Amino acid sequence: MNKLKKRKLHTLIKNLVQLVFFIFFPSLFVSSFNGFKAMVIKISGSKPIEVDAFLLVSIFLCLFTFVFGRFFCGYACAFGTLNDAVRALYLRICKKLKKKPLSISEKITSKLRYVKYLVLCFVLIMCYADMYSTLQGSNPWDVFSRLRAGTLDLKGYAVGTALLVALVVGMVFCDRFFCRFFCPMGAIFSMLPVLPFSTVSRDRSNCAKGCSACKRVCPADIDLPQRGDCTTSGECFQCGKCAEICPKNNAGTGKQLRGNEPWYTLLRAVLLLAVAYFVTYKTELFL
Ligand code: SF4
Ligand code: SF4
Ligand code: SF4
Repeated sequence: MNKLKKRKLHTLIKNLVQLVFFIFFPSLFVSSFNGFKAMVIKISGSKPIEVDAFLLVSIFLCLFTFVFGRFFCGYACAFGTLNDAVRALYLRICKKLKKKPLSISEKITSKLRYVKYLVLCFVLIMCYADMYSTLQGSNPWDVFSRLRAGTLDLKGYAVGTALLVALVVGMVFCDRFFCRFFCPMGAIFSMLPVLPFSTVSRDRSNCAKGCSACKRVCPADIDLPQRGDCTTSGECFQCGKCAEICPKNNAGTGKQLRGNEPWYTLLRAVLLLAVAYFVTYKTELFL
């Protein structure tokens, strides 16, 4: 299969996987974050931590991320898919109008990415202080979940709705705007270790002279590390775009520099689907 066909097939698979998760498992991100919040609330009240359905989702997604990197973020999170869809639509419109797309400069994005840790700390402190309920109606991800579930009644969600609108505007001008800069669950995922065979890297000695294609297409502006360093940034969404674009098949995960092989993407998607299915519908098997 030539490179262009493989790229198209991979894009098709990615879109299909995103669609399946968007339709059938739209709440995984919110559920897993609820698991963390509930855990902190229990700790603050010196109560025993109960492993409920939410915490189970958090545990399984963290384990999955430890093994396969942030594949969940790249392919399965409904809010991440919204980020991708908004930006893709904008790029398509620019192409049609033959206009250069606007983007937020790397100088700004490199600083903005720390904001998500502040959001995470803020939410966890509010949980610990038993004040989280005062934020009711101001979370954009709650508004997104309600809209996704078809609930148009947003009474009491004015702040959350305004924030969601602001985020969607940001998504227009920057890849993965919410994921990179504001997602508290993304902050947790980005701090998790990842097994070496799932870290993304390149063989710098084999790079084409003057090439920086992998960095240019990366939605997280990652400058890939040398193979074997095993230090890929926690910002990596495992999207495979660097592997797709590389003219020398020189970027990807693990020693084999895999990344965008359709079979490997499908394998991870099926495993994640199985995990999502069991934690969503068969929780009693684990509890
Ligand atoms: S960073 Fe957050 S919103 Fe983005 S894909 Fe990951 S969990 Fe979803
Ligand atoms: S796209 Fe490939 S050849 Fe170019 S810098 Fe990246 S890894 Fe090296
Ligand atoms: S382009 Fe490569 S380095 Fe960047 S997020 Fe995607 S997989 Fe990770």
